[in-house]
Amino acid sequence: MAKKLAAGNWKMNGTSESLSEIAALIAAHPNPSVDVLLCPPATLIAAASTAKGSHALGLGGQDCHANVSGAHTGDLSAQMLKDAGASYVIVGHSERRTDHGETSDLVRAKAEAATQAGLTAIICIGETLAQREAGETLAILDEQLQASVPDSATAATTVIAYEPVWAIGTGLTPTEAQIGEVHAALHSALGQRFGDGGDFSLLYGGSVKGSNAAQIFAIPHVHGALVGGASLKAADFSPIVTAL
Ligand code: 13P
Repeated sequence: MAKKLAAGNWKMNGTSESLSEIAALIAAHPNPSVDVLLCPPATLIAAASTAKGSHALGLGGQDCHANVSGAHTGDLSAQMLKDAGASYVIVGHSERRTDHGETSDLVRAKAEAATQAGLTAIICIGETLAQREAGETLAILDEQLQASVPDSATAATTVIAYEPVWAIGTGLTPTEAQIGEVHAALHSALGQRFGDGGDFSLLYGGSVKGSNAAQIFAIPHVHGALVGGASLKAADFSPIVTAL
């Protein structure tokens, strides 16, 4: 059975004051029945790790470099994130692909670096609105999936997040049928390639909120969500965790 995961991506939001939201989330879910993960900015991971203590809340980075160390000013390695208290890292988010020109080949190298460091990689893929309107969604997603996921990936070390670019931060979401079609295709493609596709956790991301989470989680092959805006406040994220 694929693991259920409610993941929050704070993106470039949050300072030490935001640690109170982590405390509030922990207080609201002292013993969560699903995996709950927050990916704050890397500057907060160590403090968040200390604040959470022995609580099961997972912490993750939002990106890592493909190399272990070296002359890469401003970058962070997967090992550094792990050392700060992370157990996950998001790679290939559409904002990284757009803002930093990241290709699926680079995303694959980052995912490999993440698993070598002992982190679970959350590999993001997603189509643009133009690609959806051109009827290219499944082809584009398969291309991104095959190129971004390393051969060494296993369901234990890798999570796939489907995030339609046009649904991120827009309040728009695909229909349940559209999400279902994509997740069924991802499940099948992973099964063909790895033989255990049924076990990979497949997250949906893009304008998930408390009011639509339950409907999205009821779609076959949706095992959780990668949440942006609605993960910043515990009061908004908590109903999503409950819905899962
Ligand atoms: P929103 O939930 O703000 O649409 O962001 C989704 C996302 O990009 C999570 O990684």
